[in-house]
Amino acid sequence: MPGRVEQIQLWDTMIIAPCGINCSLCRAYVRERNPCPGCRGGIENKAPTCLNCAIKNCEDLAAYGYEFCISCASYPCAKLLHLDLRYRTRYRVSVIANLERIQAVGAGRFVDEEAAKWACPECGARLCMHKPQCINCGCTW
Ligand SMILES: [Zn+2]
Repeated sequence: MPGRVEQIQLWDTMIIAPCGINCSLCRAYVRERNPCPGCRGGIENKAPTCLNCAIKNCEDLAAYGYEFCISCASYPCAKLLHLDLRYRTRYRVSVIANLERIQAVGAGRFVDEEAAKWACPECGARLCMHKPQCINCGCTW
């Protein structure tokens, strides 16, 4: 099927980007046409902002093989602080809080917690952080 890509699954810890963003909550991941495979997935259907992301392309992440930014000696660097401010302001999501939770309980448990936290209170479907309504039932969460 054209436009279909192998997406990282919701329950896989790989769905969490190195910066702490949960890709499964992004409008680009949940859209039906040309869905994004997630930060750690392939390059198909990816927005230029994600392909050119300063964190995704960070030399320290690559050089040291860090899974998440929180392992880095420069944590939290200016790039990450900027991203955190933008996400807190726009979407009420703190990537720094996400990373600290991952360090505290592990990525597996964090993904489980995210699944519970972002379930629609009406229908249980996964919510999208970029949208004020549930994609499935349309309720405002
Ligand atoms: Zn719903």
